[in-house]
Amino acid sequence: MRVRRISTILGGTAALAFALSACGTADVGGGSGGEGGGGEGGGDTITIGVKYDQPGLGLLDGDAPVGFDVDVATYIAGELGYEPEQIEWTEAASANRESFLQQGTVDMVIATYSITDERRQVVDFAGPYYVAQQDILVQADNEDIQGPEDLAGKVLCSASGSRSANNIVDDMGIDAELREAGNYSECLSLLGNGTVDAVTTDNTILAGFAAQDPGTYRVVNNPFGEERYGVGLPAGSTERCEEVNAAIQKMWDEGYAVEALETAFGETDFAYEETAPEVDACQ
Ligand code: GLU
Repeated sequence: MRVRRISTILGGTAALAFALSACGTADVGGGSGGEGGGGEGGGDTITIGVKYDQPGLGLLDGDAPVGFDVDVATYIAGELGYEPEQIEWTEAASANRESFLQQGTVDMVIATYSITDERRQVVDFAGPYYVAQQDILVQADNEDIQGPEDLAGKVLCSASGSRSANNIVDDMGIDAELREAGNYSECLSLLGNGTVDAVTTDNTILAGFAAQDPGTYRVVNNPFGEERYGVGLPAGSTERCEEVNAAIQKMWDEGYAVEALETAFGETDFAYEETAPEVDACQ
């Protein structure tokens, strides 16, 4: 399958790019633009922030991350004119996605990054490229928690900088006791050792963790809300946003998005969304 092949190649080429840049000779693109794909490129490399701890989405595997977001990022970068070896991956946590874009640490963020009005105040978004929903993860033998309303009085973990906990406590008014972690893998450790009763975030993320440890955790499977995954761009990137939107549309039209979802989640019991989302107009 194409996506599998790309992921494999990517492992090697990203390692090569790292080795080249470590020697100070990362000038692999030549000139001011990349040469692959249909876009005009924007330099010799493109730096993309992805998660490094979310199985199925962005997970560091040796030297390079793998997962659905990584495949989406590689496809979009290709359309912008960057070969896989011209991508520099950077770990983005939920809490530093805006600051990475504002400070120019990365050129794009593709990291289960929901489009929200609040975030739009400081960054631009292309997309969405996928629409997830929120859900809850508990220990496999926990039958008490079947939905958000059962979280009242329970200790609930989510990652700092994410919207997930606010959706439950502020928007739904459920009186859970919040425990913020640096990332979701930290929440999983806290769930595993009984420090927290539940973890809440997107169903994509929870599906990846549940599949990694079969029989240990249970996704409640009572999804709510809409998490529209955008490609985060620095504020004022209207032209790039249009290019990325075109790439997202092509990615779905060509069947690549569904292939990448199948690669990421095909062996889990997660019923991922197979319908192309409608992208927002760039602002
Ligand atoms: N998609 C949600 C958000 O952007 C939660 C997942 C995450 O933190 O990456 O807030």
